[in-house]
Amino acid sequence: MNKITPQPGIMDIALYQGGASHVQGVQDVVKLSSNENPFGPSPKAIEAVRESAARLHRYPSTDHASLREAIGRVHGLEPERIICGVGSDEVLQFIVQCFAGPGDEVIHTEHGFSMYPILARAAGATPVSVPERERRVDVDSILSACGARTRVVFLTNPGNPTSTMLTEAEVVRLADGLPGHVILVLDAAYAEFVEGFDGGASIARGRENVVMTRTFSKIYGLGGLRVGWGYGPRAIIDVLNRIRQPFNLSATALAAAEAAVLDRDFVDFCRAENARLRSWLAGGLEAAGVHSDPSNTNFILARFDSRDEAEGCDLYLQSQGLIVRRVAGYGFPAALRITVGDADACARVVGAVRAFKEGAR
Ligand SMILES: *Cc1c(COP(=O)(O)O)cnc(C)c1O
Repeated sequence: MNKITPQPGIMDIALYQGGASHVQGVQDVVKLSSNENPFGPSPKAIEAVRESAARLHRYPSTDHASLREAIGRVHGLEPERIICGVGSDEVLQFIVQCFAGPGDEVIHTEHGFSMYPILARAAGATPVSVPERERRVDVDSILSACGARTRVVFLTNPGNPTSTMLTEAEVVRLADGLPGHVILVLDAAYAEFVEGFDGGASIARGRENVVMTRTFSKIYGLGGLRVGWGYGPRAIIDVLNRIRQPFNLSATALAAAEAAVLDRDFVDFCRAENARLRSWLAGGLEAAGVHSDPSNTNFILARFDSRDEAEGCDLYLQSQGLIVRRVAGYGFPAALRITVGDADACARVVGAVRAFKEGAR
């Protein structure tokens, strides 16, 4: 018998399935399955990547001071309370790894991001899923699931794939209702798509047990570089930094992220275009008989009449070169998650869904 065995929990993790990016035999494919920015990264970030090339023989900064200061300046946050990671995924991983282990529970909501249970299991902890209510996070069900073994609560706000959002008052009620030994993680990957929203920074600021995470993968269009960050109490950030590899972020990633966060015009442009195209897309889908909740993100959760219809529409969209995301694994077998693309992509999606609906009748 093989004596090499992994730690408990690890073999319960299924390998991650990313959004597809091509369809066999179909040209002119548009990928709308991973919530990427259709406008790409800021030209200033691209320039920073180019400039970094000549210095790649040097190790990168280990304390990320320059990027943390830039983030702090833009968001009005204390740089010493910020930690940067290889995507926000790495920051989420640090939190679970540092604060949860065998016998501990990590709470996430029914339709929450699929990484949360994976990270819990990787740490040997037990993921606990709590119900949502009509595709909205239910603060009371989180609070009633919390017990002596709970270590971390993950809240995606706005949600993925629901695109719905809790109000600030509801998040405050959650933060104040949790026992002091539980860390509340506010995963604000889509915060920039909500005009005037701080991602929960002001809720994290005055509390000892709240961490907000953010990413450069969504509105900044830098998913390929892998940069995210977290903002929390100094005591927690200090713990996380102990397991962070000293050179977790490359010099190129640091330079691009810094240029990107400072280019506020580009972020404002992307937010405005997303809002405009999103309402056009939602309206077009609605007119075709496909409903969705008002979205606070750069995607729409399109609800069909049945699982068969959603899967049929997905196959039809694929045949038209449009790749969207199935979300049965998130508890939505009769829905598809569609990233808001550029104007041409949105028009193609609406045209194809309408054609599918008419043909299916
Ligand atoms: C995309 C996403 C992230 C972040 O991903 P990184 O690329 O690792 O920064 C985190 N949470 C949610 C809910 C997301 O959708």
